[in-house]
Amino acid sequence: MSTTRHRVVILGSSFAGLTAAFELRRLMGHRHEIIVLDPRDHFTFIPSLIWLPFGLREPADVTFPLAPVYARKGIRFINQAAVRIDPDTRTVTTAAGEDLVYDRLFIGTGPRLAFERVPGLGPHDGHTQSVCNLDHALLARDAWQRFLENPGPVVVGTAQGGSCFGASYEFLLNLNHQIERAGLKDRAPVTFISAEPYLGHFGLGGVGSSRAMITRFLERKGIEGITNAVIKEVRAGEIELESGRTLPFAYSMIVPPFAGVDVIRETEGLANPMGWIPVDDRYRHTERDDIYAAGVAIAITPPVPTPVPSGVPKTGQMTEAMAKAAARNIAADLIGAAGERLPLDELSAICILDAGNSGVIFRASNILATGDDGLKAARAQAVVGPAAHLAKLAFERVYVGSRRRGLQML
Ligand SMILES: Cc1cc2nc3c(=O)[nH]c(=O)nc-3n(C[C@H](O)[C@H](O)[C@H](O)COP(=O)(O)OP(=O)(O)OC[C@H]3O[C@@H](n4cnc5c(N)ncnc54)[C@H](O)[C@@H]3O)c2cc1C
Repeated sequence: MSTTRHRVVILGSSFAGLTAAFELRRLMGHRHEIIVLDPRDHFTFIPSLIWLPFGLREPADVTFPLAPVYARKGIRFINQAAVRIDPDTRTVTTAAGEDLVYDRLFIGTGPRLAFERVPGLGPHDGHTQSVCNLDHALLARDAWQRFLENPGPVVVGTAQGGSCFGASYEFLLNLNHQIERAGLKDRAPVTFISAEPYLGHFGLGGVGSSRAMITRFLERKGIEGITNAVIKEVRAGEIELESGRTLPFAYSMIVPPFAGVDVIRETEGLANPMGWIPVDDRYRHTERDDIYAAGVAIAITPPVPTPVPSGVPKTGQMTEAMAKAAARNIAADLIGAAGERLPLDELSAICILDAGNSGVIFRASNILATGDDGLKAARAQAVVGPAAHLAKLAFERVYVGSRRRGLQML
């Protein structure tokens, strides 16, 4: 039996990194070293951030500290970003200047929120809110309080180049529910803008009956939906579209375009110009067999090109399936465990669109597959009604509770 001691370095500790770390620990004995880097010291259950602005969740409800979880599993957690990767010497440098030489590198660094691509977008240097991370969701909560004191028109959506369409729909549905509850419907007309070619497209060519379902829902709620939208500029209190139309707002949440994080984009030969990492069916880099990646960080070509640029959504569930496969293949490389091929077009997705007291669950297999005619070949089912809301609540409870204890239930 080999006594070689291997080291796997994992960048990012969210859905991709945490899953890969747990799976690697399960597969590889404690003789082998697993090191996880992340500048954040807490895991955040991002799907629940849509509720934070409305006071339905506190940060403690949807986060947990990472260090104790990793300590229990014998995984070294370094609470710092990776600032340099040298694939030739297999070295990652931490923000504190420590060099970590790896046998295998797993990248789960997610997206950089590229607000700068749309003038005036974003909560820091712009005028719109975001719920893409905890800090942003807290700012969106402050802005919501100001809005309640002085209500007016609302604009929600996803900017050109964006891919996280489900988040903007879910936020829209929850926000509309809050506006109805507060009796503000007359004073706060809601508009939805999206880079998608039609409502319910999701960057995927639609999922089952999503187009008809979402179109009907918006009509019923009196929400105007503007598709193929390109935002020219956001100014205080108004969004100007390329079409020439200007949308005034008292509150706006727009999901920004995503790009790969700087350390990945700046490492020569690692990523495409957008900063996404090309991988094969084993989630191994197409040129570097000692580097693996999963989740938002990987490159996926849209199954159906869209007139306004948009990306393919990479959901948490897809991310975890990819991360598990990558971890199994890393263990296969290093200690001869069984590997796993998981072609992108065989990925399935369960997507819950919560609407505050109701919602829709879409369940689709082969979510990225295309048929002979270039159209989507996904098979999908949908469940509509209060059960979807309850399913999301249960999912959050079980997910956060189990991961906090180092378990992978679900
Ligand atoms: C508002 C919202 C709602 C969503 N709702 C759902 C949902 O209901 N269901 C669903 O399945 N999916 C949902 N998603 C998508 C889901 O959140 C993503 O699929 C998931 O977060 C992707 O995980 P990831 O690990 O690839 O990236 P991320 O979650 O973005 O994590 C990347 C991690 O890498 C770290 N990192 C970045 N740079 C470095 C570096 N240089 N060194 C080390 N670490 C670094 C970051 O700090 C971060 O912790 C939602 C997304 C949003 C924004």
